[in-house]
Amino acid sequence: MSLRGWCPSLAEPMPAADGLLVRLRPRLARLSAAEARLVADAAARHGNGAIELTNRGNLQLRGFSAASAAAAAAMIGPLDQPVRRPGLLTAPLLGVDPAAHPAGEVLAARLGAVIAALPEVSGRAEKFFITLDGGGAAGLGAMGADIAMTAAGPAMQDAGWVLRRDGDPHAVFCATDAVVGVVEGWLRDWLRAGVARMREMFPGAEAAARGSAAVTVDRIPGVAMVSVPFGAMDAARLRAIADRAESGDGVLRLTPWRVIMLAGARADADADADADADAGAPAGARVRACVGRLGCAAASTDTRADAALLAARLWADCDVHVSGCAKGCAHPMAAALTLVGRDGRYDVVVDGRAGDAPVRLGLGLADVVAQFGMLADAAV
Ligand code: SF4
Repeated sequence: MSLRGWCPSLAEPMPAADGLLVRLRPRLARLSAAEARLVADAAARHGNGAIELTNRGNLQLRGFSAASAAAAAAMIGPLDQPVRRPGLLTAPLLGVDPAAHPAGEVLAARLGAVIAALPEVSGRAEKFFITLDGGGAAGLGAMGADIAMTAAGPAMQDAGWVLRRDGDPHAVFCATDAVVGVVEGWLRDWLRAGVARMREMFPGAEAAARGSAAVTVDRIPGVAMVSVPFGAMDAARLRAIADRAESGDGVLRLTPWRVIMLAGARADADADADADADAGAPAGARVRACVGRLGCAAASTDTRADAALLAARLWADCDVHVSGCAKGCAHPMAAALTLVGRDGRYDVVVDGRAGDAPVRLGLGLADVVAQFGMLADAAV
């Protein structure tokens, strides 16, 4: 069975090396502390307890059987965005960051209602997603959304919004009151066209860069940024984050950058990090890894363990992606250095994506360290 192009959901789990995998798309990419504990309970009680924060701010739970996946879906289904309809990803600090557009929350709610009213389109809507970026300190950057909405200017001036369709060379500028109507019209055009992604409506359009952009999120006073190394955590960790959220406003804001933001929560130097950072890596370095052979039958290497070994040996601003195969799930965009697992070793792509042509074939980790200028005297 080919799994290419298929996105798992609560209703349609995906087979993986450690059992079935389900994906929860929390509404507005937020969970209350109580909801986060419910997710943790579903993962621990019915799955193997592994939880992943994806590069679209979703949560994947692993290690289910068909029956236990159904039981988990019954527990956490009410937290999910409407199935078989486009996903809506909002910038995490809408409503919290005074520099973000004040209408962002209202637009998100109105768009959510529009999406929920659309007919289901199984097989077409699973990858289609919309971003709502109100600006401020934690914007969404270039994520390759099918529809992207970006505040046009400084928040308090209400300078309107810039709307873009992936593949359309022309952006639309419109006033706040007109945004939902324009986007709803575009969604209905897409439904009538019968295509899966927006860029298919613009023949000849170049594919946009996809995935979570490398972003710089400034530290924001009063907002704790909880690091989730490689996007991986377990149920106990999610419960601990939920507990900590309750020292602030009680909301977990999920981001595409392997960070969960907690507004008003107490500081914790051991758990907090800059966005897009991973434990063990120097400040400013970015290291990404998919689940690897522990959870994916397509992998032959232990990507996260290898990435953790590399992380301590990186220079300050490097950008490394360790991928179990050429699909590049953890980071569909280009990285300075991408290691692509094959037969227990790595092919190496420079300044490209996991599927691009490698410049070296079949290297072990020590070879990678030695040949690409990492600290060669550190034993790997
Ligand atoms: S990139 Fe990683 S998680 Fe994705 S299919 Fe390949 S091995 Fe599996």
